Parts: sequence; structure tokens; C-alpha cells
Amino acid sequence: MSQLPESASYSTVVDTYDRPLKSLRLSVTDRCNLRCQYCMPEEDYVWLPREDVFTFEEMATLTGYFSDLGVDKVRLTGGEPLLRRDLSRLVRLLLHDRRITEIALTTNGILLANQAQELYDAGLHRVTVSLDTLRPERFRQLTRRDEFARVIEGIESVGKVGFTNLKLDTVVIRGFNDDELVGLIEFAKHYQAEVRFIEYMDVGGANAWAMEKVFSRSMILDQLSQHYGPIVPLPERGAAPAQRFLLPDGTSFGIIPSTTTPFCALCDRSRLTADGMWYLCLYASSGTDLRKPLRMGASADEMRSMIRAGWEARRDRGAEERKALERVGLRDGGLIGIDRLREDPHLEMHARGG
Ligand code: SAM
Ligand code: SF4
Ligand code: SF4
Repeated sequence: MSQLPESASYSTVVDTYDRPLKSLRLSVTDRCNLRCQYCMPEEDYVWLPREDVFTFEEMATLTGYFSDLGVDKVRLTGGEPLLRRDLSRLVRLLLHDRRITEIALTTNGILLANQAQELYDAGLHRVTVSLDTLRPERFRQLTRRDEFARVIEGIESVGKVGFTNLKLDTVVIRGFNDDELVGLIEFAKHYQAEVRFIEYMDVGGANAWAMEKVFSRSMILDQLSQHYGPIVPLPERGAAPAQRFLLPDGTSFGIIPSTTTPFCALCDRSRLTADGMWYLCLYASSGTDLRKPLRMGASADEMRSMIRAGWEARRDRGAEERKALERVGLRDGGLIGIDRLREDPHLEMHARGG
């Protein structure tokens, strides 16, 4: 936590569209133990230099400046966040700050069974496991690693150690796993989890992206209502990215329709890479380097001013802008070419978190 004088309080910071600074996605590493085709299609990558990657203490200090300005939700992500040894220590450090009311983790689940207990004991509030298929062979094909069994063990461990609000995130790719929606809902029920179907996005390294591979929100709803019967939308929850729905048997599920129905108007999220680059949008091509000033000894006030100024100038609506390109027929193909991604690894989804 930053050193906050007893009497100090900071007014809420809003951007040019009146969106508050509320939620921070903290990428703790850019490394990953999978190679999902839609995120890391290459085998080798240019990694962030190790000496640039923040210690947990640096992450907690910087997060403190964000919470001074209104951030109360933190999501730990990556790359694969559980590759950072002793992640529960970071959870404890972040929770010293009482203004952080929710810490969540997004993981591919491979290393979860071993760490779930210590993360729960440290006070982590929520776990989301990414799971795109229930078929081991399809999993291997998608991720190029034979780790399906360990992911399932990870999912099983979540409830066993005491978490009650597991979410399973599924990127639905048309013609690849769009035949598994019902199976995934039934699987989730078994673990008292909620599935969130994510539309395939044209971000970062998703160079094989094409509009015809997107299985849209309306396609998802059509397929599920044919199987289950009428589906009822649940009330929207502010800036939460998932739209939630109820099946006739009372089971809830979510859809994150970023590609066909962007929700930028309410977006209160920003992203910090493991080496301290701050991005105001998933699609932003440039960010603010917060590592250099932090390591060069900038004062708390200077750090807060930098963050405040960055957010107040924010005009980002990346997904809406991508959507607008579609209307003029310019959307197909990846967002950023492979050479550019190699030059600047921060542009990758696995560097800035999903
Ligand atoms: N490795 C962790 C995991 O997979 O859960 C955390 C990082 S990963 C970048 C975060 C989320 O981004 C995952 O749920 C992943 O499925 C999602 N993601 C990555 N590339 C995507 C794409 N092109 N479209 C939609 N979601 C994507
Ligand atoms: Fe897959 Fe997550 Fe790794 Fe990307 S960061 S390759 S989505 S496991
Ligand atoms: Fe927020 Fe950018 Fe995603 Fe829109 S595209 S919801 S502005 S992160």
C-alpha cells in the first residue's frame, strides 16, 4: 500500500467518457505453460527481460497508488500467473490494503491443484479457470500441450479448499469447440461453477483470427435455447464484462460478447504488465512506463499524478473501434503483424493479461 497520510483522500478519477478508474488487471508474468492457438500461436516468443519484471513488493506498491485513486478490484493474470512462485504471498501483500475489496485470479488451471489451498488461505476471493474443451485430444490440439488432466484436477481442487464462486471461461471458436456448449454447462454444474462463453477476439497474437471463426452471442443463445428451452437475461451488473443469463432449470451462465457487442462505454479496467507498462485498453498499442519512475524513486504524489493524468486523458474504446472497421470491410486478419509483435512483446495478450 502506498504511504497514505491519515487525513489524505483523493477524489475519484474519471476519464473523458466519465468512466471511473476501478479495476486493475495485474499481469504477474508473460510466460505460459500452454500455447493456445488464439493467444500464443508461436512456440517461441521474445520475453520481457527478467530484470525488468517487478517483484511482488513493487507490484503491491504500485497497486497502492492505483487504489489511492479508486481501484478496488484486482485480477491477477498473465501469461500464466501460477508460474510465479509463491503467488499467495502477493495476495497477502495486496490485501494489506483494505481498500482492495476483491482479488481474483485467472489461470489455465495446470498448477492450481498444488496452490489452491495456500491461495484460499491467503484470502484470494475468486478463481476463474480457462477451459475451452472437455476433450483431451482437442485440448492438446488447441494448446499444444498434454495437460488436460491437470487442468481438471485444478478445477476439482477449487471447491475442495473452500472457494464457492468458481468461474470457467471458454473462448468459443466456430467450427472448433462450438459443439461443446451444453457439455461445458453440465460440467460446470457438477462443480457449482458458472461458465462464461467468450467471443473470439482479434487481439494481440490472435493472428489466425477471422470473423467467420467467431461464434457470436446470438449463436450461443440460439444453440443453448434449442437444447434447454427459453433463456432469460439477468440484470446487468455495471461494468462487469459478462452478460448473465438463466436457463429454465435455474442454472446461470455468462457471455462476454466483446467482438460483436463491445461494452467499452462502461469500461473501468486498465492493465499493468509484469514490467510495469500500464495500458488503458486491451487493444491499446502504446502504454505508460510506470517502472522507470517507480525504480528511479518518484514520490507517491508524482506516481499518483502520472496515473491520474493518464486516466483523465483516456479516450480508449478499442473493441468499438474494431467493430466499426467491420462495417467498412476492414476487420479481417489479425490486429497486429507478427514482426511488430516481436519488436514489442507488450502488445501480446499474454503480456497484458486477458
Ligand atoms: N493464462 C491464463 C488463462 O489462460 O486463464 C491467464 C491469461 S489469458 C491471456 C486470460 C484469458 O484471455 C483467458 O481466458 C483466455 O482464454 C483469454 N484469451 C486469450 N486470447 C484470446 C482471444 N484471442 N480471444 C478471446 N479470449 C482470449
Ligand atoms: Fe492460453 Fe492463457 Fe497461456 Fe494465453 S496466457 S496461451 S490463454 S493459457
Ligand atoms: Fe475496455 Fe478497451 Fe475492452 Fe473496450 S476494448 S472494454 S475500452 S479494454
